Amino acid sequence: MDTILVANAGSSSVKFQVFGIEQDGGLRRQIKGQMDGIGSRPRLRVTAADGAVLVDRTYESGTIPDVAVALATAGAWLRDELKIHPVAIGHRVVHGGPDYDRPVRVDQNVLTRLERYVSLAPLHQPYNLAPIRSILARFPDIPQVACFDTAFHRGHGELADRYAIPNHLYAEGIRRYGFHGLSYEYIASALPQVAPDVASKRVIVAHLGSGASMCALNDGRSVESSLGFTALDGLPMGTRCGQIDPGVVLYLISEKGMSAADVQTFLYKECGLKGLSGISNDMRQLEASNDPRAALAIDYFVYRVSLFTGMLAAALQGLDALVFTAGVGENSSRVRRAIAEKLVWLGISIDAEANAKHARLISRSESRVAVYVLPTDEELMIARHTWSLLSENQNSSSRYERAS
Ligand code: ADP
Repeated sequence: MDTILVANAGSSSVKFQVFGIEQDGGLRRQIKGQMDGIGSRPRLRVTAADGAVLVDRTYESGTIPDVAVALATAGAWLRDELKIHPVAIGHRVVHGGPDYDRPVRVDQNVLTRLERYVSLAPLHQPYNLAPIRSILARFPDIPQVACFDTAFHRGHGELADRYAIPNHLYAEGIRRYGFHGLSYEYIASALPQVAPDVASKRVIVAHLGSGASMCALNDGRSVESSLGFTALDGLPMGTRCGQIDPGVVLYLISEKGMSAADVQTFLYKECGLKGLSGISNDMRQLEASNDPRAALAIDYFVYRVSLFTGMLAAALQGLDALVFTAGVGENSSRVRRAIAEKLVWLGISIDAEANAKHARLISRSESRVAVYVLPTDEELMIARHTWSLLSENQNSSSRYERAS
């Protein structure tokens, strides 16, 4: 069976999945894997679709110095041990800049263009691109597709896309890009089946994980996002601050003597739930703690989600459904309940029992706004995009062959 490899490369880990392409063109997840501890204590762990562990191996530190070598090592293992030779590789790439509003097959020109966006996402983009570059050099015939976290939001109207700054900076790329687009696109693609009554209406999706954001969908298209220029804005996250007055940044520089690099590390790594609680960035640990600082962090998170729901409902001029997804959204009945309690004014009323059971529909029948819990699947979205670009290319080249 032909397969597609999906890769999500970060600074110290690369996650990957393999999807089989079925006769009817459907995609079936076969393998999940991860190489983490890159550069320190590398460990490759791969499981089959049923959860059976296929390999759990550690490597000498130094043998896997970077993310490109990590994916190459994992790829070699898949080839040698499981005889998996993917027909294409789909990559998660955080930034598609102002231009890419859809996935793209990567060649040298595209890669050069994507490298220009490194300055827009310095903590992610270089790691996303490193394996693409290395595969392009070693296996130029394997089609590679870049799927962007920003692309789904590129249809935003001008008002949603801008900051109140002079035009030349907007032209240079200082825009409200929004992120988590692959997650929102997946949810938008699932809504017609799971919630046909609301799929074409006004829906807010709350992607609440370690990274957290919210997106306003109108008729399945993104019209507004809680995130902007970087993945720092909007909701507080595990370790990121969320919305903050830029004056705080100025204060940190002028009064605390912090450099730009210090401020970057601080805002990305030391704030959010971790900074507020002083205990953990992990919602499960905060929920398990009796410390009042843990309760403060959870309350703050809930409060900010409720504020952004109001903002996004204003962008949509009303609300028909709210969808919770990602680690916290899918699994924390406590956080969902607390958020719903703050949104009674919007006509939200959830069923305590359905919420506790993580049912798909958790609102009561009389709730003016339907509330859903839907698991997201960014990897499947990448596999779908990769397969559809590949099929398009194959169709157009066979059309070309027929014509010539
Ligand atoms: P990411 O993909 O951004 O790394 P996830 O979507 O996996 O993040 O979400 C991770 C978050 O979800 C963590 O804060 C974790 O504590 C939280 N989480 C996972 N399961 C639960 C649960 N049962 N109850 C509360 N929080 C949970």
